[in-house]
Amino acid sequence: MAALVQAEMAAAELRQQLLAWWEVHGRQAIPWKRRPDGHPPQPGEPLDPYPIWVAEVMLQQTQLQVALPFWRRWIAAWPTREALAAADEHDVLLLWQGLGYYSRARRLRQGARQLLGQPWPRDLEGWLALTGIGRSTAGSILSSAFDLPFAILDGNVKRVLARLTASPRPPARQLAGFWQLSERLLDPRRPRAFNQALMDLGATVCTPRNPSCGRCPWQGHCAAYAAGDPAAYPVKDAPRPLPFQVIGVGVVLNGAGEVLIDQRLNEGLLGGLWEFPGGKQEPGEAITATIARELREELAIEAEVGEELISLEHAYSHKRLRFVVHLCRWRSGEPLPLASQQVRWVRPEQLAEFPFPAANARIIAALQERLARAGAAPVGAGPEPLHPEQSRPAA
Ligand code: SF4
Repeated sequence: MAALVQAEMAAAELRQQLLAWWEVHGRQAIPWKRRPDGHPPQPGEPLDPYPIWVAEVMLQQTQLQVALPFWRRWIAAWPTREALAAADEHDVLLLWQGLGYYSRARRLRQGARQLLGQPWPRDLEGWLALTGIGRSTAGSILSSAFDLPFAILDGNVKRVLARLTASPRPPARQLAGFWQLSERLLDPRRPRAFNQALMDLGATVCTPRNPSCGRCPWQGHCAAYAAGDPAAYPVKDAPRPLPFQVIGVGVVLNGAGEVLIDQRLNEGLLGGLWEFPGGKQEPGEAITATIARELREELAIEAEVGEELISLEHAYSHKRLRFVVHLCRWRSGEPLPLASQQVRWVRPEQLAEFPFPAANARIIAALQERLARAGAAPVGAGPEPLHPEQSRPAA
């Protein structure tokens, strides 16, 4: 019992210290945490959940400063869930371009359709029913919008709590304990302010490298600080090497100077985005053979694989890829979307109108530079012009 009372006293002191620090040093100007008139809400005063929800989904994989301009453009384009529900998926993906993890954009639109005509959820279950919303995002939306006492446990909070307690195991291995701690610390009278303060502390003071312990309101309670090496926390498991794959990519041009692109299936990584066709190199296969094979298997076309345009590497959280991109000349066959939603021939200057994954932006830049260098001259496998009848195949 004495230990419980002591723990509660420590929690009360930690809350008070954190909120006092936040009043002065917190990130008070975050637009979705303010009323429409720009003033901070009173305790318990509800805010519009829509802009908060959009921001929370953007912030799942992106830092605040990066997400802010995207959020502003998004809210200007679709200021309400009704507007988002009616939006074209193509436009939604295009606006998201550059934020990565595109399934988040499609899920926001899907969620807007799901919630249409209903009151905004005020419990965890209501938010968890939306695809891609986890407990921490749901807790953050509920506390931010309605000032309800739901705890959060995002990456910043895990790091702060791991250091506060000098936890000997990685947070992912003791999530239940971390959730309990976050709930115990949460200020039931000011949950909105407390959660924001905790996130702000992690983002601005208790940073991943070189935490500024001299400016920290929790220094006196922090076990990692007392141990002398706060940056050693959170303890991490040894990293596993990422699998590596080489991807052959064909930038296929026809005689009219159009380039062939295809739209990925909606399911899976980068679903719904556009890309240049290609695929994995098989063991012992020359990259030009990979590209010719992929074009045949996935688009039913024959193409002559020409010079290399660019080679680049891109790391995802679960794998590393090297894209080896070659210019190709279309020879025969009407392109068919055998492994994609649709295929299209487009003018190179139209490529900006399509949402592409980040790695493709460099391919597009290299193509445009190559075309600019070549002027009106044909690029690709050679100077031979295509037969006029082959110059504009149907998409
Ligand atoms: S004292 Fe240092 S390590 Fe501990 S919570 Fe504060 S900033 Fe983080």
